[in-house]
Amino acid sequence: KRINIAIDGPAGAGKSTIARQVAEQLGFIYVDTGAMYRAVTWRVLQQGISPTDEAGVTEAARSMDLELRPGKDGQQVFVNGEDVTGHIRTPEINANVSDVAKVREVRELLVKMQQDMTRAKGVVMDGRDIGTHVIPDAEVKVFLTASPRVRAERRFLELKASQPDLTIDQLEQDIARRDQIDAEREFSPLVKAPDAVLVDSTSMTIPEVVDRILELCRV
Ligand code: C5P
Repeated sequence: KRINIAIDGPAGAGKSTIARQVAEQLGFIYVDTGAMYRAVTWRVLQQGISPTDEAGVTEAARSMDLELRPGKDGQQVFVNGEDVTGHIRTPEINANVSDVAKVREVRELLVKMQQDMTRAKGVVMDGRDIGTHVIPDAEVKVFLTASPRVRAERRFLELKASQPDLTIDQLEQDIARRDQIDAEREFSPLVKAPDAVLVDSTSMTIPEVVDRILELCRV
């Protein structure tokens, strides 16, 4: 049966890794909504607009063509036809994406696109507001978290090959700062939906978390 699965949680909790594998197992489409906010941020910075200039950010978001393509090696992101997938996970984007994601018009625009993708069901979507705002009627909702230190350590292992100058402490600070902005913003802040199942992955392996979520999908 085709259902929608919402996976939310703070930065570095492993949402994308887990969501991608759950989607693969079920033959569903995986949608990484963080990549959409990152792509808007990429465009904003490329145009020399300040991420705190709400009118400028809104205009940049409205005038760009954003496209997601589910691919074999995960989701690809295109801005005005250009593949930006490899450019949206830099420290510079990390440092600015939460400010861009605070802007109401940006959220309205992206949430609408996200909702359009869920109509046919069979979607695993990860983000911050999926269970609360984007798919409030999702059949399965998970709030995935882990201790801040473990989240920073996992990010470190992921990034150290491509960004050898990063340290775990730096990543922990970056994650804490983003969590704070995401949790304190006015529109659809990062919060567990009351009906979401809390999964704390601090001492769980990836296959254990995937199995836990697949179990929730069976009942
Ligand atoms: O998931 P990821 O770390 O790629 O998300 C990057 C940022 O995008 C988050 O820190 C948050 O500010 C924003 N975001 C959001 N709502 C979502 C997904 C991401 O505000 N649904």
